[in-house]
Amino acid sequence: MKVTQAYRYALDPTPGQAAALASHCGAARFAFNWGLALVKAALSQREAEESYGVPGEHLTQAPWSLYSLRRAWNAAKDRLAPWWADNSKEAYNSGLDNLARALKNWDSSRKGTRKGRAMGFPRFRSKHRAASSCRFTTGAIRVEADRHHVTLPRLGTIRTAESTRKLARHLQRGTGRILSATVRFEGGRWFVAFTCEIDHADRVPARPDAVVGVDLGVKDLAVLSTGEVIASPKHHRAALRRLRRLNKQLDRRIGPRSPDGARRQPSARWAKTRAALGKAHARVANQRRDGLHKLTSRLAATWGTVVVEDLNVSGMLANRRLARAVADVGMAEARRQLTYKTTWSGGRLIVADRWFPSSKTCSGCGAVKAKLALSERTYACIECGLVADRDHNAALNLAALAADVAQSRGETLNARGGAVRPGVRAGRAPAKREPRKRGTLRRKPEAA
Ligand SMILES: [Zn+2]
Repeated sequence: MKVTQAYRYALDPTPGQAAALASHCGAARFAFNWGLALVKAALSQREAEESYGVPGEHLTQAPWSLYSLRRAWNAAKDRLAPWWADNSKEAYNSGLDNLARALKNWDSSRKGTRKGRAMGFPRFRSKHRAASSCRFTTGAIRVEADRHHVTLPRLGTIRTAESTRKLARHLQRGTGRILSATVRFEGGRWFVAFTCEIDHADRVPARPDAVVGVDLGVKDLAVLSTGEVIASPKHHRAALRRLRRLNKQLDRRIGPRSPDGARRQPSARWAKTRAALGKAHARVANQRRDGLHKLTSRLAATWGTVVVEDLNVSGMLANRRLARAVADVGMAEARRQLTYKTTWSGGRLIVADRWFPSSKTCSGCGAVKAKLALSERTYACIECGLVADRDHNAALNLAALAADVAQSRGETLNARGGAVRPGVRAGRAPAKREPRKRGTLRRKPEAA
């Protein structure tokens, strides 16, 4: 099975290499902003011409595609940026490519041909706000044989903080090919991500006929229907505490806005705390991601069928509590990882409908409670007397859903990434479902 897969490594550049990396990302941003200004000028020129009644074929054309943007850049670069030769031409191309994509996204979103959230018109990128990144698609892109260095165009050979073994093996065997490399500055470190085409050997889960229900949580990473509790990564709590402390510290220091809202010069100490906060955020995200990858890899490699709940991510992200927000992102990420990992491992993923009352249903007799407060950590059934941990009960219900899917709808519900609406279970009281209201994005708390 051929798949596109990314391999990401932290870099350990020399000070000179770090400066060159920053220069390339700055060059990409420069080209992006220059192109955006050009497009904006052309658009307002066109608008003025239209108001004078200039016929359609004589109107100014905005350089919209990557091709036309690149041509305009090549014509202007000697005058505009006499230093352009300091960086690889891929850096400028990377910025213009991002711009062309952003323009296209905005255009198709406006015309209604693009799915998802409405996309705004691209904005200028600030050195202070936008993440620094630059993509290389051609030239010398290599993983060195010592498995501790990578080579990128113009930047040369840079040491990696960790071994590139997994990718190097694919490349040596001929089962992998690098399509592009992206360098990025994140949380105070440089990273390189290789987008690769990998030819995976066909795999089968260790227990192809077994089913597991997974209740993704806030306190613990997940609870399985087998009763196993997967705790959050070890140092996660300490990292969250540090995050809270730094947030308070940042608030005390002199930031870019005074209490009355006017702009002012931020203090050096504020900038220092902000950098530390960025680092702490990256650390929390890394710990969480590491834990999630380990969990989802294990689930996909072991179980033939994995059942998870659908989550209303955009609604949940509105939640302002920090730990909660971090967890919500994790849940969406877990589902994304499970979607591709189960496909790769030859298993299947079933996603329960958003209104499936996994927490409120009794896993013993199928009775459904009308109400279950989030604070009730134990499920006690009044019908059959079952007492179980809330999350374990939910995981058992999810696992039972797989049997329903197999019985009532057969193969068509082998929903890789799709939502499954469960039917009424045989011999059980019909489940009371939440009414489906249009326009309400917020998830009902009792199903959390
Ligand atoms: Zn019961």
